[in-house]
This record gives sequence, structure tokens and C-alpha cells, in this order.
Amino acid sequence: MIQHHPTEQTLLAYATGTLPEALAIVTATHLAKCRLCQSALGTLEATGGVLIDELSPVPLSGDALDRLFARTGESASLPPPVLHPELPAPLNRVALGRWWPVGIGVRYRPLQTAGAAWGGLILAQPGRSLPKHGHKGRELTCILAGSFADGSGHYQAGDLSEPVTDHDVPPTVTGHEPCLCIIASEGMHLRGLLGRVQRLIG
Ligand SMILES: [Zn+2]
Repeated sequence: MIQHHPTEQTLLAYATGTLPEALAIVTATHLAKCRLCQSALGTLEATGGVLIDELSPVPLSGDALDRLFARTGESASLPPPVLHPELPAPLNRVALGRWWPVGIGVRYRPLQTAGAAWGGLILAQPGRSLPKHGHKGRELTCILAGSFADGSGHYQAGDLSEPVTDHDVPPTVTGHEPCLCIIASEGMHLRGLLGRVQRLIG
């Protein structure tokens, strides 16, 4: 049962295609599992369609139709291949780097994405805390397996954490299963080992 969702601002940015790639991948991973957010996204997209309908028409250039048909042909290309069948869609089609140890019982595997945000998988063993960090910009974490708790709540598979302030309590794995999550951030300042790894791999 999913209990934690992205904010409406994040869903709107996703719907309008303005979310940086790494953040969009985390949002899409949550959306694939969350009917509530699928429904909210449908409403946002319908609202955007109404707004477009209300725009005043503008004259088009003479070759506009030819260019439209040319682009329609481009968009018919196949989706990227599944690279990681062990991961849920759409994350399974995204290129990933290697695993890096970032402390006792915590490993990190970067997403190979472009844009103004970075992201990666974090695998943490029971009782271990996710790396300490401060926030600058948006940060999204979607749980793929296991669970963690921080000062703001308890997060399980499918849940999406979008903290609005720095964590008072670092997210700590609960239960007896390792916690696998996908995290992305626009401006997280990592501290400790993961901070050094992040600087090393750029
Ligand atoms: Zn949701």
C-alpha cells in the first residue's frame, strides 16, 4: 500500500517535461506503481490540453505540415532495450554505472543520465543509514524493496520521499531486509564517503 507521493508541483513538472532526467526517472518509477498519481497526472495533462485549446491560433509556415510528418516518423522509433531485467520499469531501460561501496553495508550505483540532476541506486543493509546529506533543490527517493524511516515517516516499496527540509534524522533501514532505492537530486550535498565517490565519478 503506497502512502507517500510526489508533490503536485513535481507531478506538474513531470507532466510538462521540465523535470531533469534523473528526477523524472524516479517519478516515473513511482508512477508505474501508483494509481493515485497516475490519475492525478491524467488530470494535470487534461488541464494542460484545455489550456492549449484556449490559446489563440498563430499562422504556420508553408512547410509546417511536411516538418510535422517528418517528426512523426522519428517518434515511431522503438523504446530503448531492457538493460536490467531485475529492476522495475521504466528504470530497467536506464544505463547504470558500477556499484561503489560507500561505507559499511551501503552501496551506490550511479544512473548515467544527463541534465541538471544526478541519481543512482542505493542498497543499504538492515540497520544501516543512508548517507548524510543536506538539500539544495529537489530530492526524490523511490523505494524499490525493503523500507526505511526518517524523522518524517516510514517508507516502503513504491513510496516516494520528497523532503522539503534537511533530514533531522538520516533515513535508516528498518526491518530485516536490505533496502534498495532509487534517488535523484538537483543539489544534494553529500558528505562522508559517498560525497567523495560522487566527486570521484563526477
Ligand atoms: Zn503516488
